[in-house]
Amino acid sequence: MPEVIRTRTMTARKQHECMWCRAVAVEPGQEYVRTTLVEDDHMYDWVACQPCIDAVKFVIDWADGYADEGISEDLIQDWARDIGPEADSTPDTQTGEQRAALSFLARYGKGMVVDHGFIGVAGHPDDNECTHRADGTDATYCGRRDDDHVWGAA
Ligand SMILES: [Zn+2]
Ligand SMILES: [Zn+2]
Repeated sequence: MPEVIRTRTMTARKQHECMWCRAVAVEPGQEYVRTTLVEDDHMYDWVACQPCIDAVKFVIDWADGYADEGISEDLIQDWARDIGPEADSTPDTQTGEQRAALSFLARYGKGMVVDHGFIGVAGHPDDNECTHRADGTDATYCGRRDDDHVWGAA
């Protein structure tokens, strides 16, 4: 397991991305925590965004010992893909862990749609385009593909 050898609060000189979700973790001029870890002979720094740091406790519980190797980008993704889709699409009924997983999926890569399930084109099941409109107007037309949604078409 990687061992934390140093934790420093620093002021960022440049933008840093989160090493788990790849979203922007810190902007120039902001304070952030840089963690230095050592594993075998190899030393490296880790920078993460606050939502990912907050998710770590859930990932460790979920991995149940498997996290002894440290939490890699792959492990946190596997956790989010396992836990997120189990959630109901109504935020009120989601657990803290489910919300953390959905938030990760929304940040990661080009970001998944986590605020609604895929709604296909009525009468055209082959058109892979979501017709959800968050406020009922075309300004909020989704237009994303089925597999961009955590809750895709069945
Ligand atoms: Zn992150
Ligand atoms: Zn959609």
